[in-house]
Amino acid sequence: METVAVVGGGLAGLSVAALLARQGKQVHLYDAGLLGGRATSQVIKGFTFNYGAHAIYGRDQSILRTIIKTLKLEITWLDFSSTKAKYEFAGHLTAAPANAIGLLKTEVINGTDKLRFTWEVVKTVLHLERGTPDVSIGQWLAQEKVETDVSRLMLDLASSNFFTTEPENIPSVVYFDYYRKLFRTRKPVSYIAGGWQVLITELERVLQENEGTIHRKTKITAIEEIEQRYRLRDRKKDEWTVDRIIFALPPRDMRKLALPVPIQSFIEPFAYYEPVEVLVYDVGLSPYIQTPFSYVYDRTHQLFVTDLSHYDPSIAPKNGQVLQVVAYLAHQYVGNPDYLTEKVDQINRLLDQHYPGWRDRLTVERTMKRAIVQEIKWKMGQIALPCFMNEETGRTVAFVGDWCEGEGQLSELSFSSAYTVAAAWEQKNAH
Ligand SMILES: Cc1cc2nc3c(=O)[nH]c(=O)nc-3n(C[C@H](O)[C@H](O)[C@H](O)COP(=O)(O)OP(=O)(O)OC[C@H]3O[C@@H](n4cnc5c(N)ncnc54)[C@H](O)[C@@H]3O)c2cc1C
Repeated sequence: METVAVVGGGLAGLSVAALLARQGKQVHLYDAGLLGGRATSQVIKGFTFNYGAHAIYGRDQSILRTIIKTLKLEITWLDFSSTKAKYEFAGHLTAAPANAIGLLKTEVINGTDKLRFTWEVVKTVLHLERGTPDVSIGQWLAQEKVETDVSRLMLDLASSNFFTTEPENIPSVVYFDYYRKLFRTRKPVSYIAGGWQVLITELERVLQENEGTIHRKTKITAIEEIEQRYRLRDRKKDEWTVDRIIFALPPRDMRKLALPVPIQSFIEPFAYYEPVEVLVYDVGLSPYIQTPFSYVYDRTHQLFVTDLSHYDPSIAPKNGQVLQVVAYLAHQYVGNPDYLTEKVDQINRLLDQHYPGWRDRLTVERTMKRAIVQEIKWKMGQIALPCFMNEETGRTVAFVGDWCEGEGQLSELSFSSAYTVAAAWEQKNAH
């Protein structure tokens, strides 16, 4: 039986491992840290905090939906209520333009601009708007003389979906590709009941039911090519030899391994690209603070708060509440402590304003000052890592993860690259 090693057990590694095991391959999955990578959840004093991923955008259009169906994963979705999503605007809250009703009600743009924005949405969905290669969305909006408030709204949306402080730098082709799919969604934002750990546990279940082997706490340090097979070594000098290999670890971590020279040179440039970074502040409160909203976006400071327990009471103890605040960070300032302190102050102000009394109810808190949301940021001058090096090595070496080419953004890139590789290797088997 053909053996496949998957190095890295985040969402991408687990997905590709489960898909290949189900095809009948003998899969070995190696992970250095906690299985699930940036999508693990942590329970503190009865409050469940996601390390990273918290929402799926456009789940009805997503590759994750296909993976769930293919692998028969048991996932319960909790859909975001658009009527409870608000934007801060001129000192008060207004409807977030997250869907047609939100757009109709919102004050962030006026009536004429609403029509113009709707026209942009229609053109995007119909493929009439595709962007221009080598032109950023900011440049494109200027070239096309799109009205200021309409442009601002198009960029605000991109900030939320790409988690970026510089939406204007997204390549215009990437922007329109992404929204062609997302504007068609009827499920703009959804959460997984019980947190993302549930998805990780489900993928792990399918992998094991299909005879896959999980090597936990196993840090791979070297990979050699020997007679068209691959020998892996971990830091305890244990060794495994396999027919095919999948790299499911970020390029920055990949370059720390001793690798065959062609692989090393292939990934090298990608290891230096800028990631998408955020500051995350999670709080567990008790008792619950009732509000008429579950999401508030502060567009001036580019940060948002979500009442996750509004959707999923199981993540907090009885009458408790989990709020997650995420502040998008500008890469050039992340090393500056004053910048991060300012972000924390902005977060506290947001909570004081919309959740008065939260400080007295604070039971547990967790701050991540610099979390990597996506390993390679979509901005001009940066590209994603291809899933295959070339036609010849593509039969035995592949790459998956949110740093790879694929559909969507964030974890959707992990799922779509995993699905692409599993599908390509299944077809190759058939010939
Ligand atoms: C704060 C935050 C908020 C987010 N919010 C969202 C969201 O709302 N929606 C969304 O879709 N996505 C979101 N994301 C992004 C999402 O979490 C990631 O896209 C996804 O988890 C990436 O999975 P991955 O498998 O591609 O990579 P990773 O999770 O980084 O997996 C890589 C794995 O490789 C392992 N590894 C590294 N080196 C070695 C080695 N030498 N040997 C063996 N194993 C090794 C690591 O232990 C890790 O498990 C968020 C992320 C963060 C941090």
